[in-house]
Amino acid sequence: MSETPAYIDFETYTEHIPDSIPSAVQQATGRFAGLRSTRVAELPQWEDLRQIGSDIRLHTIENMDVYLARLESAVQAAGGYVHWAATAEDARQIVLKIAKDHNVRLAVKAKSMATEEIGLNHALQDAGIEALETDLGEYIIQLAGTGPSHIIVPAVHLRKEDIADLFSEKLHINAPADPIELTRIAREKLREKFLAAEMGISGANFMVAESGTIVMVTNEGNGRMCTTLPDLHVAVVGIDKVIPDWESLTVFLKLLARSATGQKLSTYTQFITGPRQAEGEFGPKEFHLVLLDNGRSNVLKDPVGREVFKCIRCGACANVCPVYKSVGGFAYGWFISGPIGAIFAPQMLGTPTARELPYASTLCGACADVCPVKIPIPTILRHLRRRVAQGDDFAASTMPATVRTAAGLASIALAWNWVYRLGARLLPGVMSMFRRGQWIPWAPYPLSRWTKARPLPVFTGGFRQWWQARARQGKERR
Ligand code: SF4
Repeated sequence: MSETPAYIDFETYTEHIPDSIPSAVQQATGRFAGLRSTRVAELPQWEDLRQIGSDIRLHTIENMDVYLARLESAVQAAGGYVHWAATAEDARQIVLKIAKDHNVRLAVKAKSMATEEIGLNHALQDAGIEALETDLGEYIIQLAGTGPSHIIVPAVHLRKEDIADLFSEKLHINAPADPIELTRIAREKLREKFLAAEMGISGANFMVAESGTIVMVTNEGNGRMCTTLPDLHVAVVGIDKVIPDWESLTVFLKLLARSATGQKLSTYTQFITGPRQAEGEFGPKEFHLVLLDNGRSNVLKDPVGREVFKCIRCGACANVCPVYKSVGGFAYGWFISGPIGAIFAPQMLGTPTARELPYASTLCGACADVCPVKIPIPTILRHLRRRVAQGDDFAASTMPATVRTAAGLASIALAWNWVYRLGARLLPGVMSMFRRGQWIPWAPYPLSRWTKARPLPVFTGGFRQWWQARARQGKERR
Protein backbone atom coordinates (compact mmCIF):
# COMPACT_ATOMS: atom_id res chain seq x y z
CA MET A 1 0.00 0.00 0.00
CA SER A 2 1.35 3.46 -0.88
CA GLU A 3 2.11 5.77 1.99
CA THR A 4 0.94 9.34 2.44
CA PRO A 5 3.11 11.55 0.18
CA ALA A 6 6.42 12.14 1.92
CA TYR A 7 7.48 15.51 3.17
CA ILE A 8 10.24 16.86 0.89
CA ASP A 9 9.97 14.13 -1.70
CA PHE A 10 11.99 16.05 -4.26
CA GLU A 11 12.38 13.07 -6.56
CA THR A 12 8.63 12.93 -7.11
CA TYR A 13 7.93 16.61 -6.99
CA THR A 14 10.69 18.02 -9.12
CA GLU A 15 11.27 15.57 -11.92
CA HIS A 16 9.30 17.55 -14.48
CA ILE A 17 9.67 21.08 -13.19
CA PRO A 18 10.86 23.47 -15.90
CA ASP A 19 13.26 26.38 -15.41
CA SER A 20 10.35 28.80 -15.85
CA ILE A 21 9.12 28.51 -12.25
CA PRO A 22 10.08 31.98 -10.98
CA SER A 23 8.67 33.92 -13.93
CA ALA A 24 5.50 31.81 -14.20
CA VAL A 25 4.79 31.99 -10.48
CA GLN A 26 5.55 35.68 -10.22
CA GLN A 27 3.31 36.53 -13.16
CA ALA A 28 0.37 34.49 -11.92
CA THR A 29 0.57 35.53 -8.27
CA GLY A 30 0.98 39.17 -9.26
CA ARG A 31 -2.16 38.97 -11.39
CA PHE A 32 -4.21 37.33 -8.63
CA ALA A 33 -2.99 39.79 -5.99
CA GLY A 34 -3.94 42.72 -8.26
CA LEU A 35 -7.42 41.34 -8.95
CA ARG A 36 -7.95 40.73 -5.24
CA SER A 37 -7.04 44.33 -4.38
CA THR A 38 -9.54 45.65 -6.96
CA ARG A 39 -12.41 43.49 -5.67
CA VAL A 40 -11.65 44.26 -2.03
CA ALA A 41 -11.57 48.00 -2.70
CA GLU A 42 -15.12 47.75 -4.06
CA LEU A 43 -16.44 46.53 -0.72
CA PRO A 44 -16.42 49.22 2.01
CA GLN A 45 -17.41 46.67 4.66
CA TRP A 46 -14.46 44.38 3.83
CA GLU A 47 -12.73 44.78 7.20
CA ASP A 48 -16.01 44.08 9.05
CA LEU A 49 -16.50 40.94 6.94
CA ARG A 50 -12.97 39.76 7.76
CA GLN A 51 -13.64 40.21 11.46
CA ILE A 52 -16.96 38.37 11.29
CA GLY A 53 -15.33 35.56 9.27
CA SER A 54 -12.54 35.30 11.82
CA ASP A 55 -14.97 35.24 14.75
CA ILE A 56 -17.10 32.51 13.17
CA ARG A 57 -14.08 30.33 12.42
CA LEU A 58 -12.69 30.76 15.93
CA HIS A 59 -16.07 29.93 17.46
CA THR A 60 -16.31 26.81 15.28
CA ILE A 61 -12.79 25.68 16.21
CA GLU A 62 -13.62 26.04 19.90
CA ASN A 63 -16.85 24.04 19.48
CA MET A 64 -15.84 21.66 16.74
CA ASP A 65 -17.15 18.55 18.53
CA VAL A 66 -20.64 20.08 18.71
CA TYR A 67 -20.73 21.09 15.07
CA LEU A 68 -19.28 17.81 13.79
CA ALA A 69 -21.94 15.83 15.70
CA ARG A 70 -24.62 18.12 14.25
CA LEU A 71 -23.17 17.66 10.76
CA GLU A 72 -23.13 13.87 11.08
CA SER A 73 -26.80 13.75 12.12
CA ALA A 74 -27.83 16.08 9.30
CA VAL A 75 -25.95 14.10 6.62
CA GLN A 76 -27.50 10.86 7.85
CA ALA A 77 -30.95 12.46 7.96
CA ALA A 78 -30.48 13.43 4.30
CA GLY A 79 -29.70 9.79 3.42
CA GLY A 80 -25.90 9.97 3.34
CA TYR A 81 -23.28 7.82 5.11
CA VAL A 82 -20.69 9.35 7.42
CA HIS A 83 -17.29 7.73 8.07
CA TRP A 84 -14.71 8.92 10.61
CA ALA A 85 -11.07 8.56 9.58
CA ALA A 86 -8.56 9.05 12.41
CA THR A 87 -5.55 8.68 10.09
CA ALA A 88 -4.68 8.93 6.41
CA GLU A 89 -4.50 5.14 6.24
CA ASP A 90 -8.01 4.86 7.73
CA ALA A 91 -9.32 7.28 5.11
CA ARG A 92 -7.69 5.38 2.26
CA GLN A 93 -9.08 2.07 3.51
CA ILE A 94 -12.60 3.53 3.85
CA VAL A 95 -12.59 4.83 0.27
CA LEU A 96 -11.09 1.59 -1.07
CA LYS A 97 -13.75 -0.49 0.68
CA ILE A 98 -16.55 1.66 -0.73
CA ALA A 99 -14.99 1.37 -4.19
CA LYS A 100 -14.58 -2.41 -3.95
CA ASP A 101 -18.14 -2.88 -2.63
CA HIS A 102 -19.39 -1.13 -5.78
CA ASN A 103 -16.99 -2.79 -8.26
CA VAL A 104 -15.46 0.54 -9.21
CA ARG A 105 -12.87 0.43 -12.02
CA LEU A 106 -12.77 4.15 -12.84
CA ALA A 107 -13.10 7.10 -10.46
CA VAL A 108 -13.26 10.73 -11.59
CA LYS A 109 -12.00 13.31 -9.12
CA ALA A 110 -12.78 16.94 -8.48
CA LYS A 111 -10.00 19.07 -6.96
CA SER A 112 -9.44 18.03 -3.36
CA MET A 113 -6.53 18.88 -1.07
CA ALA A 114 -7.71 16.27 1.46
CA THR A 115 -7.19 13.48 -1.08
CA GLU A 116 -3.73 14.92 -1.84
CA GLU A 117 -3.08 14.80 1.90
CA ILE A 118 -3.90 11.09 2.16
CA GLY A 119 -2.28 10.07 -1.14
CA LEU A 120 -5.55 8.62 -2.39
CA ASN A 121 -4.66 8.41 -6.07
CA HIS A 122 -1.72 6.08 -5.42
CA ALA A 123 -3.83 3.89 -3.13
CA LEU A 124 -6.55 3.57 -5.77
CA GLN A 125 -4.06 2.82 -8.51
CA ASP A 126 -2.38 0.17 -6.32
CA ALA A 127 -5.81 -1.44 -5.98
CA GLY A 128 -6.25 -1.48 -9.77
CA ILE A 129 -8.69 1.45 -9.88
CA GLU A 130 -8.05 4.27 -12.33
CA ALA A 131 -8.29 7.64 -10.57
CA LEU A 132 -8.51 10.54 -12.97
CA GLU A 133 -8.15 14.19 -11.95
CA THR A 134 -10.64 16.33 -13.86
CA ASP A 135 -9.85 19.85 -12.65
CA LEU A 136 -7.69 21.25 -15.47
CA GLY A 137 -4.78 22.19 -13.21
CA GLU A 138 -4.92 18.86 -11.38
CA TYR A 139 -5.17 17.00 -14.71
CA ILE A 140 -2.01 18.78 -15.87
CA ILE A 141 -0.01 17.94 -12.75
CA GLN A 142 -1.29 14.37 -12.81
CA LEU A 143 0.09 14.06 -16.35
CA ALA A 144 3.33 15.67 -15.18
CA GLY A 145 3.60 13.32 -12.21
CA THR A 146 4.05 16.11 -9.66
CA GLY A 147 2.03 17.50 -6.77
CA PRO A 148 0.34 20.91 -6.68
CA SER A 149 2.50 24.00 -6.28
CA HIS A 150 -0.30 26.39 -5.21
CA ILE A 151 -3.45 25.82 -3.17
CA ILE A 152 -5.90 27.02 -5.80
CA VAL A 153 -3.79 26.94 -8.97
CA PRO A 154 -2.02 23.58 -8.82
CA ALA A 155 -0.05 24.08 -12.07
CA VAL A 156 0.83 27.74 -11.45
CA HIS A 157 4.51 26.96 -12.10
CA LEU A 158 3.86 25.99 -15.72
CA ARG A 159 3.56 28.33 -18.73
CA LYS A 160 1.31 27.51 -21.65
CA GLU A 161 4.40 26.42 -23.60
CA ASP A 162 5.31 23.93 -20.86
CA ILE A 163 1.74 22.56 -20.85
CA ALA A 164 1.74 22.22 -24.64
CA ASP A 165 5.01 20.22 -24.44
CA LEU A 166 3.55 18.05 -21.68
CA PHE A 167 0.32 17.33 -23.60
CA SER A 168 2.30 16.54 -26.75
CA GLU A 169 4.55 14.11 -24.89
CA LYS A 170 1.96 12.38 -22.71
CA LEU A 171 -1.08 12.39 -25.00
CA HIS A 172 0.91 11.70 -28.20
CA ILE A 173 -0.54 14.66 -30.06
CA ASN A 174 0.79 17.91 -31.45
CA ALA A 175 -0.55 20.38 -28.88
CA PRO A 176 -0.25 24.12 -29.61
CA ALA A 177 0.69 26.62 -26.87
CA ASP A 178 -2.80 28.12 -26.94
CA PRO A 179 -4.83 28.06 -23.69
CA ILE A 180 -8.20 27.68 -25.46
CA GLU A 181 -6.93 24.81 -27.58
CA LEU A 182 -5.24 23.12 -24.60
CA THR A 183 -8.47 23.35 -22.61
CA ARG A 184 -10.40 21.86 -25.53
CA ILE A 185 -7.98 18.93 -25.71
CA ALA A 186 -8.33 18.25 -21.98
CA ARG A 187 -12.13 18.58 -22.17
CA GLU A 188 -12.33 16.03 -24.98
CA LYS A 189 -10.17 13.56 -23.08
CA LEU A 190 -12.16 13.97 -19.88
CA ARG A 191 -15.72 14.00 -21.15
CA GLU A 192 -15.89 10.32 -22.04
CA LYS A 193 -14.44 9.47 -18.60
CA PHE A 194 -17.22 11.36 -16.78
CA LEU A 195 -19.76 9.18 -18.54
CA ALA A 196 -17.88 5.94 -17.88
CA ALA A 197 -16.91 6.46 -14.22
CA GLU A 198 -18.63 4.43 -11.50
CA MET A 199 -17.48 6.72 -8.70
CA GLY A 200 -17.00 10.48 -8.25
CA ILE A 201 -14.59 11.73 -5.58
CA SER A 202 -14.46 15.27 -4.27
CA GLY A 203 -13.42 17.38 -1.33
CA ALA A 204 -15.38 20.38 -0.08
CA ASN A 205 -14.71 24.00 0.71
CA PHE A 206 -17.20 24.03 3.56
CA MET A 207 -19.56 21.64 5.36
CA VAL A 208 -22.71 23.29 6.73
CA ALA A 209 -23.50 21.59 10.05
CA GLU A 210 -27.14 22.67 10.30
CA SER A 211 -28.20 20.97 7.05
CA GLY A 212 -25.42 18.45 6.36
CA THR A 213 -24.61 20.21 3.09
CA ILE A 214 -21.16 20.14 1.53
CA VAL A 215 -20.25 23.20 -0.50
CA MET A 216 -17.89 23.19 -3.48
CA VAL A 217 -16.59 26.46 -4.92
CA THR A 218 -15.11 26.02 -8.39
CA ASN A 219 -14.57 27.73 -11.70
CA GLU A 220 -14.88 24.67 -13.91
CA GLY A 221 -17.88 22.45 -14.52
CA ASN A 222 -15.91 19.32 -13.67
CA GLY A 223 -16.93 19.36 -10.00
CA ARG A 224 -20.59 19.08 -10.93
CA MET A 225 -19.87 16.28 -13.41
CA CYS A 226 -17.94 14.29 -10.79
CA THR A 227 -20.63 14.64 -8.15
CA THR A 228 -23.75 14.15 -10.28
CA LEU A 229 -22.99 11.77 -13.17
CA PRO A 230 -21.64 8.67 -11.35
CA ASP A 231 -24.06 6.76 -9.13
CA LEU A 232 -21.62 6.93 -6.24
CA HIS A 233 -20.15 10.09 -4.69
CA VAL A 234 -17.49 10.02 -1.97
CA ALA A 235 -16.38 13.30 -0.41
CA VAL A 236 -13.17 13.29 1.67
CA VAL A 237 -13.05 16.39 3.85
CA GLY A 238 -10.89 17.59 6.76
CA ILE A 239 -12.90 18.07 9.96
CA ASP A 240 -11.76 21.70 10.05
CA LYS A 241 -14.02 22.54 7.10
CA VAL A 242 -17.20 22.46 9.19
CA ILE A 243 -19.12 25.74 9.64
CA PRO A 244 -22.23 26.26 11.76
CA ASP A 245 -24.94 27.38 9.33
CA TRP A 246 -25.99 28.99 6.05
CA GLU A 247 -25.69 32.48 7.48
CA SER A 248 -21.99 31.81 8.13
CA LEU A 249 -21.63 30.50 4.60
CA THR A 250 -22.76 33.82 3.09
CA VAL A 251 -19.83 35.51 4.84
CA PHE A 252 -17.26 32.97 3.63
CA LEU A 253 -18.50 32.95 0.04
CA LYS A 254 -17.99 36.74 -0.07
CA LEU A 255 -14.50 36.42 1.39
CA LEU A 256 -13.30 33.38 -0.56
CA ALA A 257 -13.78 34.25 -4.23
CA ARG A 258 -12.55 37.82 -3.80
CA SER A 259 -9.42 36.67 -1.95
CA ALA A 260 -8.66 33.69 -4.18
CA THR A 261 -9.16 34.83 -7.76
CA GLY A 262 -10.45 38.40 -7.45
CA GLN A 263 -13.96 37.35 -8.45
CA LYS A 264 -17.14 38.56 -6.79
CA LEU A 265 -18.38 34.98 -6.85
CA SER A 266 -16.88 31.85 -8.35
CA THR A 267 -18.42 30.48 -11.55
CA TYR A 268 -19.93 27.46 -9.80
CA THR A 269 -21.02 27.22 -6.18
CA GLN A 270 -22.41 23.77 -5.60
CA PHE A 271 -24.48 22.61 -2.62
CA ILE A 272 -24.80 18.87 -2.04
CA THR A 273 -27.12 17.53 0.65
CA GLY A 274 -27.11 13.74 0.63
CA PRO A 275 -27.83 11.57 -2.43
CA ARG A 276 -30.67 12.13 -4.87
CA GLN A 277 -34.02 11.71 -3.21
CA ALA A 278 -35.97 10.20 -6.12
CA GLU A 279 -35.40 8.54 -9.49
CA GLY A 280 -35.19 11.11 -12.25
CA GLU A 281 -33.45 13.71 -10.04
CA PHE A 282 -29.85 14.74 -10.58
CA GLY A 283 -27.21 13.34 -8.30
CA PRO A 284 -25.76 10.05 -7.14
CA LYS A 285 -27.69 7.14 -5.67
CA GLU A 286 -25.24 6.96 -2.75
CA PHE A 287 -23.37 9.69 -0.93
CA HIS A 288 -20.52 9.03 1.53
CA LEU A 289 -18.77 11.67 3.60
CA VAL A 290 -15.33 10.73 4.98
CA LEU A 291 -14.41 13.06 7.83
CA LEU A 292 -10.62 13.23 8.04
CA ASP A 293 -8.84 13.93 11.31
CA ASN A 294 -5.26 12.82 10.54
CA GLY A 295 -3.70 14.84 13.37
CA ARG A 296 -6.13 17.76 13.45
CA SER A 297 -7.41 16.87 16.93
CA ASN A 298 -3.87 17.20 18.24
CA VAL A 299 -3.38 20.60 16.67
CA LEU A 300 -6.65 21.75 18.27
CA LYS A 301 -4.99 21.40 21.69
CA ASP A 302 -2.58 24.27 20.96
CA PRO A 303 -4.49 27.55 21.56
CA VAL A 304 -2.08 29.55 19.35
CA GLY A 305 -1.39 27.05 16.58
CA ARG A 306 -4.98 25.96 16.09
CA GLU A 307 -5.91 29.26 14.47
CA VAL A 308 -4.48 27.63 11.34
CA PHE A 309 -7.90 25.95 11.04
CA LYS A 310 -9.56 29.30 10.38
CA CYS A 311 -8.07 28.96 6.88
CA ILE A 312 -10.53 28.92 3.97
CA ARG A 313 -7.77 27.94 1.47
CA CYS A 314 -7.93 31.03 -0.72
CA GLY A 315 -4.20 31.18 -1.46
CA ALA A 316 -4.05 34.97 -1.05
CA CYS A 317 -1.19 34.68 1.46
CA ALA A 318 0.98 32.86 -1.09
CA ASN A 319 0.22 35.45 -3.77
CA VAL A 320 1.79 38.25 -1.70
CA CYS A 321 4.54 36.27 0.03
CA PRO A 322 8.05 37.34 -1.12
CA VAL A 323 9.43 33.91 -0.21
CA TYR A 324 6.74 31.91 -2.06
CA LYS A 325 6.97 34.19 -5.11
CA SER A 326 10.72 33.60 -5.32
CA VAL A 327 10.92 29.86 -4.68
CA GLY A 328 7.51 28.52 -5.76
CA GLY A 329 5.41 25.90 -3.99
CA PHE A 330 7.59 22.80 -4.34
CA ALA A 331 10.22 24.25 -2.04
CA TYR A 332 7.80 23.82 0.89
CA GLY A 333 7.95 20.07 0.42
CA TRP A 334 4.29 19.37 1.12
CA PHE A 335 1.00 19.63 -0.74
CA ILE A 336 0.05 22.90 0.99
CA SER A 337 2.63 25.57 0.29
CA GLY A 338 3.14 29.26 0.95
CA PRO A 339 2.66 30.91 4.35
CA ILE A 340 -0.31 28.69 5.20
CA GLY A 341 1.84 25.62 4.43
CA ALA A 342 4.59 26.99 6.67
CA ILE A 343 2.22 26.94 9.66
CA PHE A 344 0.13 23.92 8.61
CA ALA A 345 2.79 21.29 7.77
CA PRO A 346 4.88 21.62 10.98
CA GLN A 347 1.76 21.21 13.10
CA MET A 348 0.34 18.29 11.14
CA LEU A 349 3.63 16.45 10.58
CA GLY A 350 5.32 17.51 13.82
CA THR A 351 8.02 20.14 14.17
CA PRO A 352 10.86 17.55 14.11
CA THR A 353 9.82 16.67 10.54
CA ALA A 354 8.99 20.06 9.04
CA ARG A 355 11.21 22.09 11.34
CA GLU A 356 12.60 24.37 8.63
CA LEU A 357 9.26 25.76 7.52
CA PRO A 358 8.59 28.21 10.40
CA TYR A 359 11.92 29.78 9.43
CA ALA A 360 11.04 30.03 5.72
CA SER A 361 9.59 33.48 6.17
CA THR A 362 10.75 37.07 6.35
CA LEU A 363 7.99 37.79 8.90
CA CYS A 364 7.05 40.80 6.77
CA GLY A 365 3.38 40.30 7.67
CA ALA A 366 2.00 40.66 4.12
CA CYS A 367 0.21 37.31 4.53
CA ALA A 368 -1.65 38.42 7.65
CA ASP A 369 -2.64 41.70 6.00
CA VAL A 370 -4.46 39.91 3.16
CA CYS A 371 -5.80 36.89 5.01
CA PRO A 372 -9.60 37.11 4.77
CA VAL A 373 -10.07 35.41 8.15
CA LYS A 374 -7.30 37.27 9.96
CA ILE A 375 -5.04 34.33 10.74
CA PRO A 376 -2.06 35.81 12.61
CA ILE A 377 0.45 33.92 10.47
CA PRO A 378 3.62 35.72 11.70
CA THR A 379 2.55 35.16 15.32
CA ILE A 380 2.04 31.44 14.66
CA LEU A 381 5.37 31.27 12.83
CA ARG A 382 7.14 32.79 15.83
CA HIS A 383 5.23 30.43 18.13
CA LEU A 384 6.34 27.43 16.06
CA ARG A 385 9.94 28.69 16.00
CA ARG A 386 9.80 28.76 19.78
CA ARG A 387 8.36 25.23 19.88
CA VAL A 388 11.05 24.00 17.52
CA ALA A 389 13.82 25.66 19.54
CA GLN A 390 12.55 24.62 22.96
CA GLY A 391 10.70 21.38 22.66
CA ASP A 392 11.85 19.83 19.43
CA ASP A 393 15.18 18.92 17.98
CA PHE A 394 16.03 22.00 15.99
CA ALA A 395 19.24 22.52 17.98
CA ALA A 396 22.33 23.20 15.87
CA SER A 397 23.45 19.60 16.36
CA THR A 398 20.46 18.33 14.38
CA MET A 399 20.94 20.72 11.49
CA PRO A 400 22.27 19.07 8.34
CA ALA A 401 26.06 19.47 8.03
CA THR A 402 25.67 21.54 4.85
CA VAL A 403 23.45 24.07 6.62
CA ARG A 404 25.91 24.27 9.54
CA THR A 405 28.83 24.84 7.15
CA ALA A 406 26.94 27.49 5.15
CA ALA A 407 25.90 29.29 8.34
CA GLY A 408 29.53 29.21 9.59
CA LEU A 409 30.88 30.67 6.31
CA ALA A 410 28.19 33.35 6.28
CA SER A 411 29.04 34.40 9.83
CA ILE A 412 32.73 34.76 8.93
CA ALA A 413 31.90 36.81 5.81
CA LEU A 414 29.58 39.10 7.72
CA ALA A 415 32.01 39.56 10.62
CA TRP A 416 35.05 40.49 8.43
CA ASN A 417 34.53 43.26 5.94
CA TRP A 418 37.46 42.29 3.69
CA VAL A 419 36.25 38.68 3.46
CA TYR A 420 32.79 39.86 2.40
CA ARG A 421 34.30 42.21 -0.22
CA LEU A 422 36.57 39.51 -1.60
CA GLY A 423 33.69 37.03 -1.74
CA ALA A 424 31.43 39.56 -3.47
CA ARG A 425 34.14 40.13 -6.08
CA LEU A 426 34.82 36.44 -6.73
CA LEU A 427 31.27 35.10 -6.65
CA PRO A 428 29.96 36.58 -9.97
CA GLY A 429 32.94 34.99 -11.79
CA VAL A 430 32.28 31.57 -10.24
CA MET A 431 28.57 31.83 -10.93
CA SER A 432 29.10 32.79 -14.60
CA MET A 433 30.13 29.16 -15.22
CA PHE A 434 26.62 28.00 -14.36
CA ARG A 435 24.30 30.91 -15.13
CA ARG A 436 21.59 30.94 -17.76
CA GLY A 437 20.31 34.52 -18.07
CA GLN A 438 19.47 35.78 -14.61
CA TRP A 439 19.19 32.27 -13.14
CA ILE A 440 21.39 29.32 -12.26
CA PRO A 441 19.38 26.22 -13.17
CA TRP A 442 22.01 23.75 -11.97
CA ALA A 443 24.88 23.92 -9.47
CA PRO A 444 27.20 21.24 -8.05
CA TYR A 445 26.59 19.57 -4.66
CA PRO A 446 25.64 20.73 -2.05
CA LEU A 447 23.92 23.60 -3.91
CA SER A 448 22.38 21.02 -6.26
CA ARG A 449 19.98 20.16 -3.41
CA TRP A 450 18.56 23.66 -3.91
CA THR A 451 18.71 23.82 -7.71
CA LYS A 452 17.00 20.46 -8.00
CA ALA A 453 13.83 22.12 -6.72
CA ARG A 454 14.17 25.66 -8.12
CA PRO A 455 16.83 27.77 -9.85
CA LEU A 456 19.10 30.13 -7.91
CA PRO A 457 19.01 33.83 -8.75
CA VAL A 458 22.36 35.16 -9.96
CA PHE A 459 24.34 37.08 -7.33
CA THR A 460 24.96 40.51 -8.83
CA GLY A 461 27.09 42.00 -6.07
CA GLY A 462 25.28 45.29 -6.46
CA PHE A 463 24.27 45.71 -2.84
CA ARG A 464 27.44 47.50 -1.66
CA GLN A 465 27.34 49.98 -4.57
CA TRP A 466 23.66 50.63 -3.89
CA TRP A 467 24.36 51.14 -0.19
CA GLN A 468 27.32 53.46 -0.85
CA ALA A 469 25.31 55.54 -3.36
CA ARG A 470 22.49 55.79 -0.85
CA ALA A 471 24.92 56.94 1.87
CA ARG A 472 26.42 59.55 -0.49
CA GLN A 473 22.97 60.91 -1.34
CA GLY A 474 22.17 61.16 2.36
CA LYS A 475 25.35 63.20 2.99
CA GLU A 476 24.60 65.51 0.07
CA ARG A 477 21.12 66.16 1.36
CA ARG A 478 22.52 67.04 4.81
S1 SF4 B 1 -4.04 31.53 5.58
FE1 SF4 B 1 -5.59 33.11 5.06
S2 SF4 B 1 -4.80 33.98 3.12
FE2 SF4 B 1 -3.73 32.00 3.40
S3 SF4 B 1 -4.95 30.50 2.31
FE3 SF4 B 1 -5.68 30.49 4.42
S4 SF4 B 1 -7.40 31.96 4.44
FE4 SF4 B 1 -6.25 32.34 2.57
